[in-house]
Amino acid sequence: MQKFDYYTPTKVIFGKGTENKVGKEMKKDGAKKAYIVYGGKSAKKSGLLDKVEKSLKDENIEYKMIGGVKPNPRLSLAREGVKEAKEFGADFILAVGGGSVIDTAKGIAHGVANPDTDIWDFWEGKAKVEKSLPVGVILTISAAGSEMSNSAVLTNEETGMKRGLSTDFNRPKFAIMDPELTYTLPDYQVGCGVVDIMMHTMDRYFTDLTDCQNDLTDEIAESLLRIVIKNGRVACKNKEDYHAMSEIMWAGSLSHNGLTGLGAPMDFATHRLGHSLSAKFDVAHGASLSAMWPHWANYVKHKDIERFARYARNVWGITEGTDEELADKGIEATVEFFKSINMPTCFSELGIGIQDEDGLRELTNRCFYVKGTKVGKLIPLTEEDIYPIYVSANK
Ligand code: NAP
Ligand code: FE
Repeated sequence: MQKFDYYTPTKVIFGKGTENKVGKEMKKDGAKKAYIVYGGKSAKKSGLLDKVEKSLKDENIEYKMIGGVKPNPRLSLAREGVKEAKEFGADFILAVGGGSVIDTAKGIAHGVANPDTDIWDFWEGKAKVEKSLPVGVILTISAAGSEMSNSAVLTNEETGMKRGLSTDFNRPKFAIMDPELTYTLPDYQVGCGVVDIMMHTMDRYFTDLTDCQNDLTDEIAESLLRIVIKNGRVACKNKEDYHAMSEIMWAGSLSHNGLTGLGAPMDFATHRLGHSLSAKFDVAHGASLSAMWPHWANYVKHKDIERFARYARNVWGITEGTDEELADKGIEATVEFFKSINMPTCFSELGIGIQDEDGLRELTNRCFYVKGTKVGKLIPLTEEDIYPIYVSANK
């Protein structure tokens, strides 16, 4: 086991009707003027925003709202939110939605607390977040895990870069999780969420394991994957299955709060490959990951065949064959599962069509925030590695 810090300060408030407690919870955190961030229409249509307003009014918390956050959230809207929230004098940011809304809320919180810094400087590493405003979350989709994570992902439309910022200041104060709020999700988003949850654990599980023997971490990771696969099959058929939606929701948070990768470095190459696709084609995050993982896995598997064989055995229950055969069968089982929940496994299924060489080079370049750096840990990938992975997905 390698050294680690495990810091998950987010209070989780889980279960039916918990959204009605939001005002009380914010009051405990000292909120007097809240800036509420939400997405398109879903939170309005479901009546969730009305409940939030009532709960805040009951606690005499003043508020102002900004809506319109889109999936693959844009820097420009976060900047607009910073300006408005500052003018309003916000002392608390409340996110009502999924990863896109939460990440925008995190960006706004950093911007308000650091009025002299343009928030993109934090994402580019030109400035360090040393203070922020408290962020609370009411989660409406199980996917990104942003409700407990130290990460926030924004897309800069001017440069075409989608990138993440990791800092403990990204950890929300509380996360309210009522699985019933996810019943209104479109089927496609349920599938995308299931993939993203799996990938937050798999991007930690398949990594450079030199000097890492992490029995507990590995078994937590494998168990989480089995639970998400089993309940994902149910949820993709019936979104109103409370048990399945609950298991997926809790797994979504644990998959990305650090727990499933403790004691090892994180790889996250598949996330980087997917971010390039989302930045260029605005495709859903989860779908970008299922379209890339099989191609990444086939490219890197030779580096740790035993790990891929163990994955086949412990996650998919496949036992027949040599380690090489098991590795292939585990990857194939993953592909079949993605297909069974209508998730894409290549570019044409993702709906972006076949790319020409320039297009593939452009995607490759977008994976490198800084020239000369490498992507991932299992095999630290260069441009010469990333390009053939995109070629493999280009069908
Ligand atoms: P999302 O982008 O927040 O939302 C996806 C779609 O689902 C939106 O169209 C949204 O519509 C809809 N939706 C959400 N809740 C709904 C509900 N209850 N009923 C009906 N529709 C609903 O989804 P996400 O997968 O959670 O977030 C994806 C983003 O998070 C990506 O940008 C990804 O890169 C990022 N991400 C962040 C982290 C992190 O740790 N920060 C980790 C992984 C991924 P409305 O707008 O109408 O609500
Ligand atoms: Fe993700």
